[in-house]
Amino acid sequence: MRTKITLACTECQHRNYNLTKDKKTHPERMETKKYCPFCRKHTLHKETK
Ligand SMILES: [Zn+2]
Repeated sequence: MRTKITLACTECQHRNYNLTKDKKTHPERMETKKYCPFCRKHTLHKETK
Protein backbone atom coordinates (compact mmCIF):
# COMPACT_ATOMS: atom_id res chain seq x y z
CA MET A 1 0.00 0.00 0.00
CA ARG A 2 1.69 3.17 -1.17
CA THR A 3 0.55 6.67 -0.32
CA LYS A 4 1.03 9.80 -2.37
CA ILE A 5 2.97 12.49 -0.56
CA THR A 6 4.32 15.93 -1.39
CA LEU A 7 7.70 17.22 -0.34
CA ALA A 8 7.96 20.94 0.40
CA CYS A 9 11.12 22.99 0.77
CA THR A 10 11.52 24.10 4.37
CA GLU A 11 13.16 27.38 3.31
CA CYS A 12 10.75 28.76 0.70
CA GLN A 13 7.78 26.42 1.31
CA HIS A 14 7.50 25.53 -2.36
CA ARG A 15 6.19 22.04 -3.03
CA ASN A 16 8.76 20.65 -5.37
CA TYR A 17 8.31 16.90 -5.35
CA ASN A 18 5.42 14.49 -5.60
CA LEU A 19 6.13 10.88 -4.82
CA THR A 20 4.74 7.82 -3.16
CA LYS A 21 5.95 6.11 -0.04
CA ASP A 22 5.23 2.93 1.80
CA LYS A 23 3.52 3.81 5.03
CA LYS A 24 4.73 0.62 6.64
CA THR A 25 8.39 1.41 6.12
CA HIS A 26 7.99 5.18 6.63
CA PRO A 27 5.23 5.79 9.15
CA GLU A 28 6.75 9.13 10.14
CA ARG A 29 6.89 12.28 8.08
CA MET A 30 9.74 12.10 5.64
CA GLU A 31 12.55 14.62 5.71
CA THR A 32 15.06 14.53 2.94
CA LYS A 33 17.60 16.79 1.30
CA LYS A 34 16.62 17.61 -2.26
CA TYR A 35 17.37 20.26 -4.84
CA CYS A 36 15.00 23.21 -4.72
CA PRO A 37 14.82 25.12 -8.05
CA PHE A 38 13.48 28.19 -6.24
CA CYS A 39 16.31 28.35 -3.70
CA ARG A 40 18.66 27.02 -6.40
CA LYS A 41 20.38 24.74 -3.91
CA HIS A 42 19.84 21.61 -1.90
CA THR A 43 17.53 22.20 1.04
CA LEU A 44 15.68 20.08 3.53
CA HIS A 45 12.30 18.98 2.20
CA LYS A 46 9.51 17.81 4.45
CA GLU A 47 6.45 15.78 3.75
CA THR A 48 3.21 17.75 3.59
CA LYS A 49 -0.40 16.81 2.94
ZN1 LIG B 1 13.22 26.34 -1.60
